Amino acid sequence: GIKWGKVKEMFAEIQSKCALPTEKLKQIASAMETEMHAGLASDGGSKLKMLLSYVDKLPTGDEKGLFYALDLGGTNFRVLRVQLGGKKGRVVDQDHLEVSIPPHLMIGACQDLFDFIAEALSRFAALESEEHKLPEGKQRELGFTFSFPVKQLSLSSGTLIKWTKGFSIEEAIGKDVVAELTKAMERQGLDMKVTALVNDTVGTLVGGRYDDSDVMAGVILGTGSNAAYVERASTISKWHGDLPQSGEMVINMEWGNFKSPLLPITEFDEAMDFESLNPGEQIFEKLVSGMYLGEVVRRVLLKVAQEYPIFGDIVPPKLETPFILRTPQMSKIHHDSSPDLKDVGTKLKEVLGIHNTSLKTRKFVVDVCDMVAKRAARLAAAGIYGIIKKIGRDTKSDPKQRTVIAIDGGLFEHYTIFSKCLDDTLKELLGEEMKNSVVITHSNDGSGVGAALIAASHSDN
Ligand code: ADP
Ligand code: MG
Repeated sequence: GIKWGKVKEMFAEIQSKCALPTEKLKQIASAMETEMHAGLASDGGSKLKMLLSYVDKLPTGDEKGLFYALDLGGTNFRVLRVQLGGKKGRVVDQDHLEVSIPPHLMIGACQDLFDFIAEALSRFAALESEEHKLPEGKQRELGFTFSFPVKQLSLSSGTLIKWTKGFSIEEAIGKDVVAELTKAMERQGLDMKVTALVNDTVGTLVGGRYDDSDVMAGVILGTGSNAAYVERASTISKWHGDLPQSGEMVINMEWGNFKSPLLPITEFDEAMDFESLNPGEQIFEKLVSGMYLGEVVRRVLLKVAQEYPIFGDIVPPKLETPFILRTPQMSKIHHDSSPDLKDVGTKLKEVLGIHNTSLKTRKFVVDVCDMVAKRAARLAAAGIYGIIKKIGRDTKSDPKQRTVIAIDGGLFEHYTIFSKCLDDTLKELLGEEMKNSVVITHSNDGSGVGAALIAASHSDN
């Protein structure tokens, strides 16, 4: 039989390493804030790159015309066509196409990836209806959402710093991704100009601001995790150019690379990091984002199964396969509210080939998911609280003050227990007095519309 007392003891020890009481989260938020300062002071001053986006004006609602957006940065890429109608019309019409990226292209040749993208974009552009055609002589314009760290040289150019989230194409590092995309579009005979290169966090912020003028930050919780926010340009000491007229600049934090001795890192996280494509990098992202949560759960279950026969006398072979348990499946397990945990049983069978689990074992699997998901959600809340502190919105200067955080990404959108815990934790950090003046909103596909809006407001058509 299974010695559940021993299992619980082992689990309690893992849980204690993952624990994030309020005080510790506040320390993590302060550490994030300190790193933000350091990253704004000088290039290379911090693990947080605090990248300039060159987006220094936010949408007004007056944006008009037909614009394209392309969103590349995870498992899928999307192409989008938006018809903007100004203050009255808003988003008049919108159309999109989603294509999954063949895994071999994520680790192959640079040109192959961009050719694949340009080909899909070209197919999509060919479907333009008559009413959406641009006037004769006008070139199509595109906002390119590229969700990897980029050293931006201008609004419409930037070089790739490094890959994340399972992409690894060595030869692309240091290249201008807009130039690569432009060459690929030319090879397709596609007449389109890249007007803006934006990170998905920046797009989410801008798309969110279009709907709500109190949006101050954009956060991605999807395959990866990152955030962007509106900073006062005068505080960016590493910026030596002219100050923008607005006095503001959107900063892409690249918070996925945040690291601190305060982070609750276990042996499971260390082993996963060690075996990853980018060891030592993106440590915060590996604790928080959808690409990794299921994998951490798998590693915990494997360790327990190696010591105690929770899944039978032999360790299920599939449980030894890295990344076999994906976060959407973990989410399904975690949300099972049936008395006999039917969905948990089904998933264990389907995904891990484990049959006939007892209710106790199923409950235990749910507990492991709960630990990993809540650690992630609480850390994400601490990151957001760090931003709120940095921009001075953790106290009230005016009773009507409202701060909105626009969030997008499959993890936030679909993993309800995660999103609820994130919201609750942020309120816990803000305290009674402030908790109602900060609001989280789901910016559904804001990053695509955001990129089109940026292209529109910087268009020379
Ligand atoms: P990307 O981050 O790749 O641009 P998305 O924002 O759509 O794309 O996020 C996709 C990610 O969200 C997946 O990789 C997965 O980790 C997570 N995800 C998707 N669906 C769910 C779900 N039902 N439950 C939990 N996580 C999910
Ligand atoms: Mg995305």
